[in-house]
Amino acid sequence: MQRRKFLKNSGLTAAGLVTASAVVSCKTENKTEEEAVVANAPVTPIKPIVVCTWNFYNASEKAWEVLSKGGSSLDAVEQGVMVEEADEKNETVGKGGRPDRDGNVTLDACIMDKDGNCGSVVYLQNIVHPVSVARKVMEETPHIILAGKGAEKFAYEQGFKKEDLLTESTRKQYEEWLKTSKYETTINIENHDTIGMLAIDENGDMAGACTTSGMAYKVGGRIGDSPIIGAGLYVDNEVGGATATGVGEEVIRTVGSFLIVELMRQGKSPQEACEEGVKRIMKKNEGRKDFQIGFLAINKNGETGGYCVHPGFTYREYSANGHENREVKSFYN
Ligand code: ASP
Repeated sequence: MQRRKFLKNSGLTAAGLVTASAVVSCKTENKTEEEAVVANAPVTPIKPIVVCTWNFYNASEKAWEVLSKGGSSLDAVEQGVMVEEADEKNETVGKGGRPDRDGNVTLDACIMDKDGNCGSVVYLQNIVHPVSVARKVMEETPHIILAGKGAEKFAYEQGFKKEDLLTESTRKQYEEWLKTSKYETTINIENHDTIGMLAIDENGDMAGACTTSGMAYKVGGRIGDSPIIGAGLYVDNEVGGATATGVGEEVIRTVGSFLIVELMRQGKSPQEACEEGVKRIMKKNEGRKDFQIGFLAINKNGETGGYCVHPGFTYREYSANGHENREVKSFYN
């Protein structure tokens, strides 16, 4: 329904999408004449375009502003996710993110560009914009990942300011949590979570970024999938990109985002690739229902897809064809 509404609003014809998916899927055998004509018609890629996990309207609006002025996909994803990092009301990303079980807010983020360059920070404290530090790691050092105190020192050297990331609200919640100190993840506890963003600019170049405060009340030092290139995010400018949200341990075990990009390389649509990604995870977790994972993917033609373990995961898509928050199908119903 959502999808149909989007198509209607967008002015993008169903035939256009069929064309894109037929070519991307490389299914050229055993086709009727009509199907073959559609399959062989030239694809008009949708660009620029930005997608992000969950319903982060303001972040995608910002990214779209950059893209629509001819900005690069790299600037778009960085500036887009920075909106959530700065939003204190968002308790799963950046300032205002919930702390670990010792009361420390520790942030994870990464960024990847069209050339496969990437940068990442893990267990970063006292800095509001870990994605920008990750970009500095990518652009200013020969390294890819900086952790903890080293990453923080590097950030100060690059001009970032020290700031307390715990807010009045998250401090109170933490004090309340201390009374039981129970550790459990709750599915879709908030309808806004880690933000993973993927964009294609008007040149057709792709970039991605992912940023999070990780699982609330995690063990001090725990790192999730979000800053791990290939797990929480992966971009290949020739094929497409993917990003993840949910219980990072499960995404790392299957190197989820890399897997999805490779599945698209082999001819799967973004939707099919995300479904296969979740199924791989569920194969390793047969019968387990106590966690959520959401995958989001985009291919070179601007075709998008998403899939999750439990209902509730959505992604926002923004292009000249319209913008919408899309509910995705799930493994369990
Ligand atoms: N994937 C993130 C992590 O495991 C958390 C989330 O997306 O909810 O740190």
